Amino acid sequence: MIYDCPVSFAENLASIQQRIQAACVRVGRDPGSVTLLAVSKTHPPETIRAAMDGGQWLFGENKIQEAKAKIPLCPGKARWQFIGHLQSNKVRDAVELFELIQGVDSLNIAREISKRAEQAAKTMPVLLEVNVAGEGSKFGYPPEQLLMELNELNALPRLEIHGLMAIPPYTPVPEKARPYFQKLHDLKTRAEAVLGAPLPQLSMGMSGDFEVAIEEGATIVRIGTALFGERVSSQQRSVD
Ligand SMILES: *Cc1c(COP(=O)(O)O)cnc(C)c1O
Repeated sequence: MIYDCPVSFAENLASIQQRIQAACVRVGRDPGSVTLLAVSKTHPPETIRAAMDGGQWLFGENKIQEAKAKIPLCPGKARWQFIGHLQSNKVRDAVELFELIQGVDSLNIAREISKRAEQAAKTMPVLLEVNVAGEGSKFGYPPEQLLMELNELNALPRLEIHGLMAIPPYTPVPEKARPYFQKLHDLKTRAEAVLGAPLPQLSMGMSGDFEVAIEEGATIVRIGTALFGERVSSQQRSVD
């Protein structure tokens, strides 16, 4: 990866922050209500350290192996969230490495997270992943199943449900993602009714469509390419 020039990163970061702010202003939201998660998957520690020099502290990784190797090489104030698909044999590492696990999509994995968090004497904040378009190829809860399992998930002692996340189908036209973002927001409202408590986080929007996601209520936008440039590897969101 050649994209480790701090000047370019700082420029990209400033531009993304401006766009986040403008999207917030358009819909009357406080720009402070949107968190930028810099998706650093595939990028080397030097790139991440340069990003930290540029003022970015929150990073997203989608593979446990990669994160385990990289995180110790990026010391300092960095905070890490897991945005991949988690398998049970990787849960222990995930609980140790990450402040938040995005992408919980089954009771089994949720139970494992709670168990491992208990062993580590902590509680683990998570987001539940929703398969908003019902795509066979995607991970995530079907909306109705999520609502059915919600109380059971919420009863797990060491799991804290902080909200929902989704990865809508890719489209080159950001506007086409809007219905999926609306759907996730609606589902959050229904989930809050089931739980009788607010869910603060809605993780949606990536490089191509984060402004639309913010207009529809995103509180976390996950941005890789628009900050770091194209990823060299063809890694998408493979199972780790
Ligand atoms: C890679 C990835 C992103 C970032 O995608 P970009 O289009 O590069 O911004 C966001 N979310 C998830 C879950 C990812 O795997």
